[in-house]
Amino acid sequence: MDLSVIVPCYNEEASLSAFLDVCVRDFGTSGLVYELILVNDGSRDATSKIMADFAASGRCAHVSCIDFSRNFGKEAALLAGLQEARGDACSFIDADLQQLPSTLLEMHALLMENPDVDVVAAYQEQREGSKMRASFSRSFYGLFNRLSETEIEADASDFRVFRRPVAQALLSAGEYYRFTKGLFSWVGFKTLRFAYVPEERVAGTSKWSFKQLMSYAFEGIISFSTAPLRLSMGVGIVAGLVGFVYLLKLIIVDVLILHNTPAGYPTLLAVVLILGGLILLALGIIGTYLARSYMEVKRRPIYIARSVVRTDDGEQTSSEHFRTNRSV
Ligand code: UDP
Ligand code: MG
Repeated sequence: MDLSVIVPCYNEEASLSAFLDVCVRDFGTSGLVYELILVNDGSRDATSKIMADFAASGRCAHVSCIDFSRNFGKEAALLAGLQEARGDACSFIDADLQQLPSTLLEMHALLMENPDVDVVAAYQEQREGSKMRASFSRSFYGLFNRLSETEIEADASDFRVFRRPVAQALLSAGEYYRFTKGLFSWVGFKTLRFAYVPEERVAGTSKWSFKQLMSYAFEGIISFSTAPLRLSMGVGIVAGLVGFVYLLKLIIVDVLILHNTPAGYPTLLAVVLILGGLILLALGIIGTYLARSYMEVKRRPIYIARSVVRTDDGEQTSSEHFRTNRSV
């Protein structure tokens, strides 16, 4: 098996058929032995039927269909695909034709030409979407890199082709909150950047709302950095010093030298409110990490699949009725 192509799909009925057609055309003529791993991330539309029909049609020699019991998110879908993959090289690609199979083949060719390279990562030349989103995204990467020891490059995507050892390394990170872009830089390996311009979505809509993107960004930072925990220490030290200096001024200058006791209600109230706010903020930050640890300690599975079916040359060669990330 030369190449495993992992495709997370969530409510993609509108674009999946077109995507699969392009896959058969482009990968079929590439001369590579390839497999398609289609992960249905709890879609509520006909996605799973399109997948099953495609597998049965035998148009692609090796197809695996993984059907999640509910929507677990793209990161979980990528993990499930990776566990199923058998290729010497593995790749992630979206099902909406924003990332083209032909681009993936170019990236694979580049990987084969450079034996010392382990990952070919596509980055977006022009970020699609609104200006505001783009500037949010830039500031997110700026903040991420400042806070975390793991560097990730702006405009990085999880559209990548990588060798088996990298896949193995990704699988060895067993955390519940997965932030694949961050994991790619965390595992290291030699990475080549490959510029591409994302196409327009052929059909359907982006599955990301602004709120989801914000929480994704927040999760990324919490997963790869503990700097926010140290933030409260800095703020505490500064607040303490200011308080001390202020106290000295009050007692020595105002009371002992000038002999006037100042009336300080507004100051007092402001200080109490500000410090109270900062303390609650710090508690919130600690609480977030604690909640994270709690979820990790519970060791719930990252995904649950209600069926995993492998099809070779149109014949079902294996089928499971239950799988989690820990049962493989
Ligand atoms: N996706 C998924 N689970 C989700 C959300 C998205 O598997 O909960 C898949 C989706 O079907 C697509 C890919 O992840 O193949 C990228 O999603 P989308 O195109 O909505 O993101 P964008 O391109 O806007 O970043
Ligand atoms: Mg997309």
